[in-house]
Amino acid sequence: MKITEHIAQAKETLISFEILPPVKGKSIDNIFSNLDPLMEFKPSFINVTYHRAEQIFKKREDGTFNRVEIRKRPGTVGICAALMNRYRVDAVPHLICGGFAKEETENALIDLHYLGVDNVLALRGDSPANEKFFSAHPQGHRYAVELVDQVVKLNKGKYLEEDIVDAGKTDFCIGVAGYPEKHFEAANMELDLHFLQQKIEAGANYITTQMFFDNKKYTSYVEKCREANIHVPVIPGLKPITSKRQLSILPSIFHVDIPHELAIEMLKCKTDEACEQVGTEWLIAQCRELLAQKVPVLHFYTLGKPNVIYNVVKAIL
Ligand code: FAD
Repeated sequence: MKITEHIAQAKETLISFEILPPVKGKSIDNIFSNLDPLMEFKPSFINVTYHRAEQIFKKREDGTFNRVEIRKRPGTVGICAALMNRYRVDAVPHLICGGFAKEETENALIDLHYLGVDNVLALRGDSPANEKFFSAHPQGHRYAVELVDQVVKLNKGKYLEEDIVDAGKTDFCIGVAGYPEKHFEAANMELDLHFLQQKIEAGANYITTQMFFDNKKYTSYVEKCREANIHVPVIPGLKPITSKRQLSILPSIFHVDIPHELAIEMLKCKTDEACEQVGTEWLIAQCRELLAQKVPVLHFYTLGKPNVIYNVVKAIL
């Protein structure tokens, strides 16, 4: 079922989760053991992130180095199929521009369609760890809006090879990313919203936001979206802070602010457990406020902390 249908039919705020595929070589059982307890909350959908290949140097036997491309977290499509099979839940694979030719994207979409996946989250993707700026695949897309356009065309039965006619149509519901604190490369919020509006005009059906720790950022972002003529659902992305280290890591990776009050409380903690408790309580308070605002979905980035997410959702439902 499409995310937009889930939202349209819901009488109250929905719950959803986001997971990362395991590092290559690790078992899918890790995913199941993290998700099994969370299924108690009947999530409407589960997102599975996509990770581009990275270039790394491998040492040869003669001591010299060889540059190789390795995808550390493969398996997004397979995990989506496994989740749908095990939990009878809608899976939302992320699709990224980075590292993919348009044809590879088309083939992935065909696989997803055959598997019965109804939704995709269309993203540009981050640059690999060893590259400062995003660079597009020579036969790929530069911006997420182009990826949205490709999915929309496929939904209309238009394949890259123009001589394919009367082909089976896909019918994906398309999500895109939004940034309550602005995407870090955007010159200003207005321009970021202008490009977000282009993604919606191209055919995207809903927005999932980057994490935020101050609800005012989300509320004001939704207001700005509406002023910019963006009227699709804006799903808040939520993550708990669980350690002092994250006070500097999260702003540097995700370009988000940590509220002063939360940072101060965290710094006072003497143990890891105390930090986790502060982060859990903060997220519970955020969720309660968002529930009162009747947001469409609470979307949780589980990122290796399913126990904390469990405690948060248990407390708010
Ligand atoms: P875009 O919408 O293409 O925007 C990128 C930047 O370009 C922005 O600054 C925008 O303002 C600007 N821009 C957009 N269009 C144009 C244009 N036509 N001309 C000029 N400038 C333009 N990354 C992954 O690698 N894998 C994932 O699974 C993943 N999941 C994510 C899930 C969510 C909910 C979010 C919020 C992010 C996720 N990311 C993921 C990170 C995301 O890929 C990065 O934030 C990336 O840098 C931007 O992606 P985007 O889709 O927002 O890009």
